[in-house]
Amino acid sequence: MLTSGKVLLPPLLDTSPVDRGPSSLSMKFACSKVVYHQCVKHIYEGPDMRQHLLIDADDTLWENNIYFEQAIEDFIDFLNHSSLKPHEVRTVLDEIELTQGYGSASFARSLRECYIRLAEKEVRDEDLERVVYLGEQIIHHPMQVIAGVKETLAYLSPRHLLILLTKGHEEEQKLKIENSGLGIYFGDTIIVEEKNVDTYNQLVTELDLDLENTWMIGNSPRSDINPALKVGLNAVYIPHLHTWGLEKQDIPHEGKGRLLTLDAFTELRNHF
Ligand SMILES: [Mg+2]
Repeated sequence: MLTSGKVLLPPLLDTSPVDRGPSSLSMKFACSKVVYHQCVKHIYEGPDMRQHLLIDADDTLWENNIYFEQAIEDFIDFLNHSSLKPHEVRTVLDEIELTQGYGSASFARSLRECYIRLAEKEVRDEDLERVVYLGEQIIHHPMQVIAGVKETLAYLSPRHLLILLTKGHEEEQKLKIENSGLGIYFGDTIIVEEKNVDTYNQLVTELDLDLENTWMIGNSPRSDINPALKVGLNAVYIPHLHTWGLEKQDIPHEGKGRLLTLDAFTELRNHF
């Protein structure tokens, strides 16, 4: 079982091999859904009353979707469709995005395809360049850590076993982790392609997680809450006003795990 206390972190963007010992997770995960895993050796002696807290990143630790929302608004203005309402343009874009990956480059490709599909005039190269720019420039958005997150992580980090679990484009997620300065609070940083039932089952097995004492914390019903509950983990749902539409779902609360719903990340201090 992992124990933690004093955490020594290598630089987050240091991609040189880290000696993780014979129980290394990265090699097993590299063949399946986990695209990046950074494990830090923990030094802790004494009784272990800690729980594993798997914590989402985008729109849980820092703002993310607001930048995509702004780009979509700019796209709709630029498209200037004569009959489709903004939400109807978004529906078309959603359909296209479902076929693409995550990250700004994939988003830019989706905007480009959406423009080609919906433009009511001749599609010029400069128009496509403009649309692609709207998507690609998201990678340069400022890092905005959500209020109280840093202080809350500083409180939780010595008390529990924190694992950052995020999905998306590997390099973009690594960059955001580094820019946030929050990596120091996590014993493990795991970037996966998708957060679904298979992913959580794999994490439970490979990290030897005790279901009763492990929580998934995040803003997305689709990626954080429902699949975690389904495999028997506990979950903390922290809704975000600007959660991406494709991440929204009802929460049927399947499984034996407990479900907490909190208004803000800072409220975790009252429960852990
Ligand atoms: Mg999220």
